[in-house]
Amino acid sequence: PFLPIADYRLRNTPKPELVQMTYTPAETRYDTMPYRYCGRSGLKLPAISLGLWHNFGHDFGHQNKRDICRKAFDLGITHFDLANNYGPPPGSAEEAFGEILRTDFAGYRDELIISSKAGYRMWPGPYGEFGSRKYLISSCDQSLKRMGVDYVDIFYSHRFDPDTPLEETMGALDHIVRSGRALYVGISSYNSQRTREAVAILNDLGTPCIIHQPSYNMLNRWIETDGLTDTLDELGVGSIAFTPLAQGMLTKKYLKGVPQDSRAAQGKSLAPDWLTPKMIENLNGLNDIAAARGQTLAQMAIAWVLREQRITTALIGASKPEQVEDCAGAVENLEFSADELAAIDALSQGGDVNIWAKSSSD
Ligand code: NAP
Repeated sequence: PFLPIADYRLRNTPKPELVQMTYTPAETRYDTMPYRYCGRSGLKLPAISLGLWHNFGHDFGHQNKRDICRKAFDLGITHFDLANNYGPPPGSAEEAFGEILRTDFAGYRDELIISSKAGYRMWPGPYGEFGSRKYLISSCDQSLKRMGVDYVDIFYSHRFDPDTPLEETMGALDHIVRSGRALYVGISSYNSQRTREAVAILNDLGTPCIIHQPSYNMLNRWIETDGLTDTLDELGVGSIAFTPLAQGMLTKKYLKGVPQDSRAAQGKSLAPDWLTPKMIENLNGLNDIAAARGQTLAQMAIAWVLREQRITTALIGASKPEQVEDCAGAVENLEFSADELAAIDALSQGGDVNIWAKSSSD
């Protein structure tokens, strides 16, 4: 049922638009999505998680954001990944999600895993980015306020800070857990060596690092060459692979070039010049392999990430609820033959899509 605008305003809610008020999550929401333990922790995460980096800022309508989140939850996607700076403007994705928590997801907080992070520039001056105790704790407080929650389930250091002692950054994460602001902590984009150091410090503090968030997809395999996958396995840390679709390149979206309704056309984080004629030819080849498996390219790309049992969950983004539905279908076929893997390898060469490489080391 829809409420007319006048009634809606009477209820003193902020958005003067016609909105669908009632939502009951699908009873079938736990029927098909697999859940994997996050490393050696007791926390299970859905094989597919939803991130709110793009498409949740002021450049998108609120109803579409609600529809995307509802569709995700209906399909068993219980994990929503945010960060302080997601928008635009920074902070607006957390505000939008906070509103969805108050309307659609009210009463379901205990069925949800909500994550946030701090590391990238959030406010001006010396305390608005990177890894100091000052920045992490105040940013976490801001995130809680924007989302209207008492705690997040997972809080991350979003990037390695070469100029702050790692003991300080990890000490801030430990404090964030001990003070009740987060249940678990994680790190994002730290390379293998920095991960070892961070995990050791957190273990000493008694607050284990349960999750690492690196970029990973067929076109970006740095975690294999860096040894991060093996390191995480050895340390018992789970992993959430972000951009499993290479920001949309590994979907049907760019098979004929760059369409207007795409991230690449909007001049966001996906550079249109990555879509060279050779890359588009390869994407079409990958699409043929996916079709032979009875999958869409997006489904195969997600399945490829999840074929690695040591990856806990694939962290997708979406600009429409239909994309979430398509992606969720990936879990129906996570097995690959050796021939399929070799054919995928041959078509995944070239391209330099890891824009997070610098945040991993130094
Ligand atoms: P992605 O899943 O690789 O790309 C998502 C984009 O692919 C969508 O916005 C959409 O593009 C397109 N798409 C998705 N499903 C599709 C389908 N079924 N068919 C056709 N196109 C489809 O991931 P991402 O959005 O780049 O990143 C996912 C999440 O990872 C973020 O939201 C964030 O939570 C996290 N992340 C973390 C970091 C970090 O530093 N820790 C960095 C980046 C991202 P259009 O929008 O063009 O329609």
